[in-house]
Amino acid sequence: MSPFELAEPRSLKAALKILDANDPSVRVFGGGTALMLMMKAGVFQPTRLISLRGIEKRYAKVTSGQDGSLHIGALITLSALGRTAMVKKRAPVIVDALRTLSNVRVRNVATLGGHLAHADPHMDLPPVLIALGAQVVTAATTGSRTLAVADLLTGYFETALAPNELISEIIVPSQTGWRSAYIKLTTRAADDWPTLGIAVSLQTDGKVIQDARFVVSAATEKPLRLPSVETALRGATISDAVLARVGEAAVAEAELTGDAHGSAAYKTELLRVYAGRAVRKALAA
Ligand SMILES: Cc1cc2nc3c(=O)[nH]c(=O)nc-3n(C[C@H](O)[C@H](O)[C@H](O)COP(=O)(O)OP(=O)(O)OC[C@H]3O[C@@H](n4cnc5c(N)ncnc54)[C@H](O)[C@@H]3O)c2cc1C
Repeated sequence: MSPFELAEPRSLKAALKILDANDPSVRVFGGGTALMLMMKAGVFQPTRLISLRGIEKRYAKVTSGQDGSLHIGALITLSALGRTAMVKKRAPVIVDALRTLSNVRVRNVATLGGHLAHADPHMDLPPVLIALGAQVVTAATTGSRTLAVADLLTGYFETALAPNELISEIIVPSQTGWRSAYIKLTTRAADDWPTLGIAVSLQTDGKVIQDARFVVSAATEKPLRLPSVETALRGATISDAVLARVGEAAVAEAELTGDAHGSAAYKTELLRVYAGRAVRKALAA
């Protein structure tokens, strides 16, 4: 590894000041779990790394909005996120997804902000957060903005973040009336990278589905909502026939790509079978 400068600012404002919009080799890190792998592999050689670990503690906490939303600081570790009672109660699908997200050593240091900013299409939480309708709040010296997680992720390891813009908070709206599930399919250990991820959120009275968000990941350039599946679910009462239609609609719409975790044909067959199972899992949540 080449030598680099390490900065450890004590506030978000100070971190923003030492970012350099014109120099991509200056980069922040949260847990460093993704960044260090890139550095060790030689694909990223920083001149300056800015640790966010020393900034204000409120960026590592979860608070409640008056409307029942969750406001999650971007510096929270994935382990702390999974242990937070408010998250367990209001968005249990996040805690469920975290159980098989990598291993405890990674979860103990990896941060939610780093997880989202890295934009690896195999990540487990982005599809879940998109299904929940979550947003990110960003910070820059010029001000802050709020955008949907779905709009943050623009492509393969690509985000809508400007070079001098950070994620400071993630907002999960109130889930009252919604039920959600995530299915992670792996070909090796249960906590391996997913071959396919399916996240579903349903607004339902328990019988008829009023609204739906259906997201597929790990087989596309970025997590993808499937509008045709959502249309097939809206107004439906669940039956085997409806779920079979959901599977067919999913594979007709999604163009999946293969990788080291499975071929495109294998992933397509998984989607056909598990789309309906994910809907059933959400209804039972
Ligand atoms: C062995 C191993 C197994 C794994 N298995 C899985 C798995 O099964 N499922 C899964 O989902 N993930 C898995 N991961 C990936 C893991 O989830 C990510 O490495 C982790 O979430 C990244 O978070 P971090 O805080 O360490 O990011 P960092 O490495 O600190 O940063 C990653 C990127 O985000 C940027 N960044 C960091 N914080 C911010 C911020 N607040 N605002 C803007 N940009 C920021 C950095 O500049 C960098 O570009 C695995 C990782 C490892 C090492």
